[in-house]
Amino acid sequence: MIKENLEKIKATLPENVTLVAVSKTKPIEDLQEAYKTGQRIFGENKIQEMVDKYDALPKDIKWHMIGHLQSNKVKYMAHFVDLIHGVDKLKTLNVINKEAKKHDRIIDCLLQAKIAKEETKFGLSFNEIEAILSAKETAALENINIVGLMGMATFTDNKNQLEEEFLSLKNFFNQLRTKHSKLNILSMGMSGDYKLAIENGSTMIRVGSSIFGHRNYNQ
Ligand SMILES: *Cc1c(COP(=O)(O)O)cnc(C)c1O
Repeated sequence: MIKENLEKIKATLPENVTLVAVSKTKPIEDLQEAYKTGQRIFGENKIQEMVDKYDALPKDIKWHMIGHLQSNKVKYMAHFVDLIHGVDKLKTLNVINKEAKKHDRIIDCLLQAKIAKEETKFGLSFNEIEAILSAKETAALENINIVGLMGMATFTDNKNQLEEEFLSLKNFFNQLRTKHSKLNILSMGMSGDYKLAIENGSTMIRVGSSIFGHRNYNQ
């Protein structure tokens, strides 16, 4: 099924939209099956799990960390992670920078914006994002590259609300880009809402259950 699911999703994707296959909680065999169909970008939300899978799988895979970050674990992925989606603190950027430097790497990061109305979601306000992007302290971090924004919409079936949240992030993103030309990734959209996210400007979708099937526990 994984092959069919992937092919179905890819067939509908516009050329400028990148698919991250979210493989958290799934066994190595499932990732291998996706790999065989040509998928090379995988997303995980736990650093240790991502490290184990990195060690076990081919090295041309690009690993995206999509979960909330614990600063003390960044060091375990600094030698290979390709893109970190969920940065929501300047302090975390400092840690990523320090760990990237040890490996002589520059790690691409997205700042996570809070767009959902729910209280539980992590993320920065638009003002906080502007402040981080313009801070001298950020400019001095030579081993990170902030290349875009990430957002998670409210968990709801209400299309109008989802659309409003995606659009607000897209408009903010476009406005930021006039000043910060390095920003070119807008990561938004998951299994339930990626079509709407693409209609509203997403350039990177993070799809798990529509590819690999439902997860056994809620993560
Ligand atoms: C789990 C997860 C996804 C994928 O969710 P699905 O609904 O299974 O597609 C996307 N983004 C983040 C941040 C996640 O934690």
